[in-house]
Amino acid sequence: MTKRLMAALMAVLAMIGATMAAPLPALAATPDNGAVAAKLAANPQLGGAITPLRCNLPQGGCYQAYQSGSIYWSAATGAHITTGAIARRWGSLNWERGQMGFPKTDENCTLANGGCVQTFQGGRIYWQSTAGANAVTGAIGSAWDRSGAEQGKLGYPISGENCTLINGGCVQKYEGGYVYWRPSLGAHSVHGSIGNKWVQMGYERSPLGYPTSEENCGGAPLRCVQYFQGGTINWPTSAGVSVNPYQSSVGVVVNKRRPNSPINQTPPDLVWVGSQVMRSEAANQLAQLISGASAAGVPITTVSGFRSHATQTSLYNSYVAQYGQAVADTISARPGYSEHQTGLVMDIGNPSGACSLQACFANTAAGQFAAANAWRYGFIIRYTSGFDAITGYTYEPWHLRYIGVRAATDMHNRGYRTLEQYFGLAAAPTY
Ligand SMILES: [Zn+2]
Repeated sequence: MTKRLMAALMAVLAMIGATMAAPLPALAATPDNGAVAAKLAANPQLGGAITPLRCNLPQGGCYQAYQSGSIYWSAATGAHITTGAIARRWGSLNWERGQMGFPKTDENCTLANGGCVQTFQGGRIYWQSTAGANAVTGAIGSAWDRSGAEQGKLGYPISGENCTLINGGCVQKYEGGYVYWRPSLGAHSVHGSIGNKWVQMGYERSPLGYPTSEENCGGAPLRCVQYFQGGTINWPTSAGVSVNPYQSSVGVVVNKRRPNSPINQTPPDLVWVGSQVMRSEAANQLAQLISGASAAGVPITTVSGFRSHATQTSLYNSYVAQYGQAVADTISARPGYSEHQTGLVMDIGNPSGACSLQACFANTAAGQFAAANAWRYGFIIRYTSGFDAITGYTYEPWHLRYIGVRAATDMHNRGYRTLEQYFGLAAAPTY
């Protein structure tokens, strides 16, 4: 080998060395540094590309679609596959531009009952064959996690969040119940026997309103209670389930065993309706009832609404003076024990005064309209015929008690005749 040939060979070797040391240009050419291509190479089941790699997404993200799914990449989340029902649900929530953001994982399909989950920046999407694909996010998702997620009593989500409820509330439905959320009350699950009763009474529009706690169970025998805005529901009880509304609730039960609390209480929201006052919600609904009756050709007047502890004291004392206490107790409540003191009651009458506060009122036009239609406006005939042993009072077809449209409708539809039976509370025939 000549010196000249040797020099040429060394120059070629130097060039090769220089070439081999240079970085590969292909990976630097895309914003994702080839992460999507690498993900595809590891997942050939995605099939051929049906779009080019596009990198015009929010957060500088990229995606490419293939025959069997897509790969999405962002600098914060890396490259992940979206496919099938979970991808369609994510799409319905506006893909990476919606509240879910980019996927942070691929699907994990090792969950109970063949379920899958994929985690996104804004939450998770679960899929299971009978439950379908639904997103779980935020405070409702956290409450579901505390209940044991898909392995707990609630099981998989079967809907998304519905945030059109009264007072800004949201609900998500699960296989075994619900999670409700409302500003300032947080998210709480509702399920089982307690949940069923609450659902029957009208959900968040029931006399109890939204849940304020989870169901708490303990002791032997087992006792459970759940707190709501307007009271508690207890299970099991001798009646199966028992509802105990607070004094502030339109469901409050006042009878000979359950006085007003405090005993001289006056409701804070009394307004005029006709010649009387009632709590505002009840007054609005009674005005609707009176105009509904009027439209049907039946004039109805107000006779006696809210009565204070002091008024009831003089009324009861006058009956005792006239008839003696035994008779007085069957026709008038002792002070503190009158349902009129709740502000949720109106004794109604005919403008003619016909059968005023007498049993024959039931046969007058006003009495018949009330018996047939009061429930539509949220009222019940509180002291119905033949139930003295439960309510403690003889038939009063004129005494309308407001409990809300949902609960009154449920009582009507399922044939309950007394509030005590409907709420699973003890009979109150005597003091
Ligand atoms: Zn009355």
